[in-house]
Amino acid sequence: MAIIVQKFGGTSVADVNRIRAVAETVKRERDAGNQVAVVLSAMAGVTDQLVGYVADAGGRSHSPEHDTVVATGEQVTVGLLALCLENIGVPARSWLGWQIPVHTDGVHGKARIEKIDTDALEQCLNAGQVPVIPGFQGISPEGRITTLGRGGSDTSAVAVAAALGAERCDIYTDVDGVYTTDPRIVSSARKMEKITYEEMLEMASLGAKVLQTRAVELAMKSNQRLQVRSSYSDVPGTLVVDEDEIVEQEMVSGIAYSRDEAKITLVQVADKPGVAAAIFGPLAEASINVDMIVQNVSADGQTTDLTFTVTEADLERAVETIAAKRDELEYADLVSDSKVVKVSVIGVGMRSHAGVAQRMFETLAEKGINIQVISTSEIKVSVLVAEEYTELALRALHTAYGLDAE
Ligand code: ADP
Ligand code: ASP
Ligand code: MG
Repeated sequence: MAIIVQKFGGTSVADVNRIRAVAETVKRERDAGNQVAVVLSAMAGVTDQLVGYVADAGGRSHSPEHDTVVATGEQVTVGLLALCLENIGVPARSWLGWQIPVHTDGVHGKARIEKIDTDALEQCLNAGQVPVIPGFQGISPEGRITTLGRGGSDTSAVAVAAALGAERCDIYTDVDGVYTTDPRIVSSARKMEKITYEEMLEMASLGAKVLQTRAVELAMKSNQRLQVRSSYSDVPGTLVVDEDEIVEQEMVSGIAYSRDEAKITLVQVADKPGVAAAIFGPLAEASINVDMIVQNVSADGQTTDLTFTVTEADLERAVETIAAKRDELEYADLVSDSKVVKVSVIGVGMRSHAGVAQRMFETLAEKGINIQVISTSEIKVSVLVAEEYTELALRALHTAYGLDAE
């Protein structure tokens, strides 16, 4: 019998009625002759609420107690689904991360899964039961509860699927697949039948939250077949596949955006060897990831302006870290701005097509949108623009690359 892992996100388990509908979906997959393991998120909004409680109590987001609290959302949904499955005659049992166990490292708030023991899950499956597994949580080497970072249930699902040797991992969510861009912003976005692991990885890491980046990374590494599909309808979803499974490559296959960006500019910093190291060294030591960087042409040959981006969550710490070095760096001013968005066009077809970046720059120019920072890689071009242009930029680029649905 083939094993299928089904993962249901927050809106799919938002209340008991929805959980009943999930139970029916699980039953159908089982009735089709498969063994099914289920991974669940917390009810929509619950994790946010739990994070809020921890903040109110003065807890830090990377502490063991933070994880003890925020992991509870998933405990509720797994218990409820196991109940609903039993009610319709499907034998099931709920598990918690530590009972399986799902072993992670000890980095609270963004732990990585190291290994999933399969003995208990396999026994459960072989006894004819559906194991109902909480996403997002695991256990650290110290025996404490850990969480995997927001959206982490996707990663739990892929890790469970890989550990069990599942034929497919289905991510059930509130859209019916991966679209050329966020369908909530661009109504002409098109659903893709297939997308490569590589493109999906870029889309996810550049902001498309339909799959967590680590989930895609793991699926790619373990060659796990992955599908994104709707909890509300039976239509086929989007398959994430190897590049050779896609016959015709578009130049650009998708557009992603991330509002979780902040820009820092150091005005009139000395234009001499060692300055970049003196700025970015301390940021790295503080575990602050710097994403895009641009150094302006020096007007006087002595000083230059240096701009870079960090995540919004890291902005305050980044500013503090730089300010602490002001004497050494001798900059005239430090300006920060979190009202920016990073818009990225992605496609493996870029490797063989020229002019992708140029079309992006022209399209934005026609709309009067100023580009603040640019970065590129083999299969993507990203620009930083003012946040107020998010929708305009996405729609214009979507049309310019011929992605609009007919
Ligand atoms: P879940 O709670 O099921 O994990 P998420 O909210 O994490 O769901 O992810 C689904 C959402 O991702 C969709 O509602 C959609 O707005 C958003 N999204 C962003 N980019 C895309 C894209 N390219 N294709 C599909 N959905 C996308
Ligand atoms: N409940 C967690 C979150 O909201 C994990 C997930 O849903 O994937 O981030
Ligand atoms: Mg999600």
